[in-house]
Amino acid sequence: KRSKQSGRTETYHARAFDVARKQFGMETGLRRAIESEALTLHFQPICDLATGRIVSFEALARWTDEQGVCLSPDAFIPVAEESGLIVPLGRWAMDEAVRTLAAWNDAAGKPCDVRIAVNLSAIQLQRDQIPSMVRAALDRHGVSSNQLTLELTESAIGTDPDHVARIMTALKDMGATLAMDDFGTGYSNLAHLQRLPIDLLKIDRSFVSGMLADRDKLAIVRAILSLASALGMTTIAEGVEALDLAQRLAALGCTQGQGFLFGRPLDRDRAYRLMAERNA
Ligand code: C2E
Ligand code: CA
Ligand code: CA
Ligand code: CA
Repeated sequence: KRSKQSGRTETYHARAFDVARKQFGMETGLRRAIESEALTLHFQPICDLATGRIVSFEALARWTDEQGVCLSPDAFIPVAEESGLIVPLGRWAMDEAVRTLAAWNDAAGKPCDVRIAVNLSAIQLQRDQIPSMVRAALDRHGVSSNQLTLELTESAIGTDPDHVARIMTALKDMGATLAMDDFGTGYSNLAHLQRLPIDLLKIDRSFVSGMLADRDKLAIVRAILSLASALGMTTIAEGVEALDLAQRLAALGCTQGQGFLFGRPLDRDRAYRLMAERNA
């Protein structure tokens, strides 16, 4: 009995060690990736549901590791948050997004009529000076703040609402657009929503994608749309994969859509070509 017990303990330790080693390996790799070409941003179009025009692109991080495997942000963003690497990663993402806007404006010969949306993580809001970091990136590349959207989730507010409110107000005063990401999945605190200078409400994919088959999901989407309209916010439906869904959302009064129907995340040059083609 005793040996069985210790055997089990050993397996447990071996496993914990394995997890720790894997995580540490990932951390080291990620640290290197931030300073190299291994980390890139891809850009997914967000379209006006009435006209089909691309109004913005969401910047989504991609990491191709040493073995050439492309890792999902769902795998490495949590590691970046736990290790604090989210601060340099977030700074890199902001710089890269604004650099992309500058390149697109250059190619078009004038400021493009699209924005890029950058994700801000809760840890980043706690640990970094976001407004000055954003200002510096815009100045470095000569891009106007009205081409930039910042996305943050409800859970990012929960930790310290007053601190987050000050950051958001500063960003808003600077001229940036603010989006509440994955709306409906966090602890939706409607008082925060009303108090914060939010322009865009992104309805989470978990409600949108099944809403044609599930009456409860449809009811939630309707409720969010009516709330947004009452508060004067623009709405973006996430996870729009089919045309009938896009049409139904438009009929319900949703303003914009993001999802595979309109386009997958693309590299910088492909995204630019898609925009030139669709918005011609
Ligand atoms: P998110 O902010 O909700 O981003 C949207 C995710 O949904 C993306 O996954 C996108 O590829 C996926 N998606 C878009 N349309 C569809 C669709 O029609 N169907 C389906 N099934 N999926 C769709 P991705 O790129 O894997 O990113 C996952 C998450 O990682 C993002 O979720 C975001 O929270 C986080 N993330 C990505 N890049 C960054 C970054 O630079 N900084 C921070 N802090 N977080 C990031
Ligand atoms: Ca997002
Ligand atoms: Ca989202
Ligand atoms: Ca989501």
